[in-house]
Amino acid sequence: MGLDNTNILIIICNNLPYKYKTMELLNGNEVSKKIKIEIKEKVDFIKASGKKTPHLAAILVGGDGASMTYVAAKEKDCHEVGFDSTVLRFDASITEEELINEVIKINENPAIDGLIVQLPLPKHINEKKITETISYKKDVDGFHPMNVGLMFKGLRTFLPATPYGIVKLLEHYQIETTGKHCVIIGRSDIVGKPMSALMLQKNCTVTVVHSKTVDLPSFTREADIVIAALGIPGFLKGDMIKAGAVVVDVGITRIEDSSTKTGYKLKGDVDFDSVAPKSSWITPVPGGVGPMTRVGLLLNTLEAIELYK
Ligand code: NAP
Repeated sequence: MGLDNTNILIIICNNLPYKYKTMELLNGNEVSKKIKIEIKEKVDFIKASGKKTPHLAAILVGGDGASMTYVAAKEKDCHEVGFDSTVLRFDASITEEELINEVIKINENPAIDGLIVQLPLPKHINEKKITETISYKKDVDGFHPMNVGLMFKGLRTFLPATPYGIVKLLEHYQIETTGKHCVIIGRSDIVGKPMSALMLQKNCTVTVVHSKTVDLPSFTREADIVIAALGIPGFLKGDMIKAGAVVVDVGITRIEDSSTKTGYKLKGDVDFDSVAPKSSWITPVPGGVGPMTRVGLLLNTLEAIELYK
């Protein structure tokens, strides 16, 4: 049997001093596998009842290595759960107008249920314009203002995939959220802000801190749940959390590493070695939030069929 990174991490943890044993992993690899099996069962049922197979399309512009990896992973996920998938690849020289026209074509194509545009786009293309051109009915990334509004009101819609995946992960491990203080580091449109809305809906008391926050550690030290989403590797240290906190690491920064096959290593925003011994639950990087984000996208694509077909 092959070992993935999470298995390796668990084995390493079992060899660490006692203090590490109080901590448990929020294992995104395992939970995402379980959820994908459930999605596949639903897709099999949809197909057996003669209904349309969910179909996710992705637009990839240019040859950025990370973007190509993410899109390939999403294609593989679709295949695993039985979705149809289409990847439209365009050269980095495509104009904004041409790309808008491609998005409109997909909006009008009844065969496609969900569309994602892999970010970042080349500098001459306005990302906001492109993502807002995607029909809100196919916006399975949940970035369209219409879907953002519905989400903030707690109405049924597509949820931004990363916060959605994190909520699923916390629910799987039955992490208590009601009455808990959740501190989110980062206020981006795709992670921090929607995360705050979802944690409010989970009855947390929510604090969002950011680059202009004065004395940030004084907030994180008060948190029962810390969600780090700022993109600075190893930012959250052990002396910035209280004992027993639940820690979710959203960060994924590629750090050059010649000892790996790919030439890089993924680093989270949490300094795992100092934070893990003090925490009660913690996500690893990789194998924590990343696979759950991909599951969030699949769940949204399934939702597209239920909401709009
Ligand atoms: P982003 O758009 O760059 O936003 C970063 C946020 O962090 C901003 O709100 C910024 O504050 C805040 N920040 C920056 N430096 C800070 C500091 N020193 N102290 C406190 N706050 C600080 O990033 P993002 O898109 O939210 O992504 C954050 C990280 O998550 C990145 O590593 C990204 O690659 C990763 N990510 C992972 C997944 C996944 O599936 N695992 C998904 C999405 C993103 P200001 O607003 O004041 O500038």
